[in-house]
Amino acid sequence: MLGAVLYGPRDVRCEEVPEPKILRPTDAIIRLSASCICGSDLWPFRGLNDIASPLAMGHEYCGIVEEVGSAVRTVRPGQFVVGSFCISDNTCPHCRNGFQSSCQQREFMTGAQAPRARVPLADGTLVATAELPADDLIPSLLAASDVFGTGWYAADAARVQPGSTVVVVGDGAVGLMGVLAAKQMGAGRIIAMSRHKTRQNLALEFGATDIIIERGDAGVARIKELTNGIGADSVLECVGTKEAMMQAIQCARPGAMIGYVGVPHGVELDGQWLFFSQTGMLGGPAPVRRFLPHLMDLVLNRKVEPGKVFDMTLPLADAAEGYRAMDERRAIKTLLRV
Ligand SMILES: [Zn+2]
Repeated sequence: MLGAVLYGPRDVRCEEVPEPKILRPTDAIIRLSASCICGSDLWPFRGLNDIASPLAMGHEYCGIVEEVGSAVRTVRPGQFVVGSFCISDNTCPHCRNGFQSSCQQREFMTGAQAPRARVPLADGTLVATAELPADDLIPSLLAASDVFGTGWYAADAARVQPGSTVVVVGDGAVGLMGVLAAKQMGAGRIIAMSRHKTRQNLALEFGATDIIIERGDAGVARIKELTNGIGADSVLECVGTKEAMMQAIQCARPGAMIGYVGVPHGVELDGQWLFFSQTGMLGGPAPVRRFLPHLMDLVLNRKVEPGKVFDMTLPLADAAEGYRAMDERRAIKTLLRV
C-alpha cells in the first residue's frame, strides 16, 4: 500500500510501505475513511524535530475496523471508529483522571497517512459509532481525532465558562477549533487573533465575535481596549512559540487560565514575570480520548462542523504537496483521500 514517509527536512514521499499487521493481542487494524496532515507534522517537516530514521507520518484517523487482536473486547470488525492521536489504555490512574495523553502505556499514533493503520490498545483508544456515519460527516469525525479534540482541550484547560471572555492566540487549524470549542462552551466573547482573511472568515463562522490583527504589545493593547482594561478570562495558546506564549500570558487577566496546546519550540519564561502575571496554565498533548464521545455526538448530531477546517483535499499520493501548502500557509489543513 501507499504511505507518506518523512525522510528529512521538506522531504516527504509517498511510497510503498508494508501493510499493517496485528502485532499484539490488543491491536486493531483499521481501513481509514480519510487521512490528513497535522500542523504538528510541520515541525519535523521543517527540520525542527530531529528524526532518527524515515518516519511513517500520520496520526489522525477514523475508519472501519478490519481486524482485531484476540484480547480486544469493545470494538469489532465492521464498526466505524475514531481514535485519538495518543494511544491509551483508558484504565490506568492518569486515564481515569482524564489525562489519557499521559497514559502509563502511552504511545503516539504513526503511519495513518495511509489506507490502513494499526491502532495499539484498541479497547482504550477507539470509540465506535452506533452505525456507519454519512460520508459528508467523515471530515468532521476525522477532525475529532486530533485537531478538534486539541482545540477543545485548549478551551477546557483555559476553563471557558458560559459568558466568559476568551482570547485565541493562533489562527491555525487548532486555533480555529479552539474558537469553535469556546463557542460550544458558551463563551460570551471570543477574540481571535488573525491576520489572514480566509482564517478570519472561518473564525467568524466558528463563533468568533472579534478579530484583531495586531500582535505583540499592540495586540495586548487591543485586548485591553476590548476588555475595559482587564484582560481575558481564558486564553487559548495554539502556536507553541515564545511570542505566542508571551502574547497569551499578557492578554490574560489576573486569575485567568491559559490553555496551551501549541507544541513549545524555544519557549522560555521568566519565573518572576510568570509569578506576577497571576495566571494559571494547563497544557500539553490533548487528552482527546476524554472528549471523543462528546465530540463525536456533536458531529453526528450535526451541531458542529469542524471538518470545515479542511480547505484543501488531495489524493494521498500528493501528500507532499499538502505539506508544502500548509507550510507556506496556502492551506489551513489538508485532507488526504486514501
Ligand atoms: Zn492509561
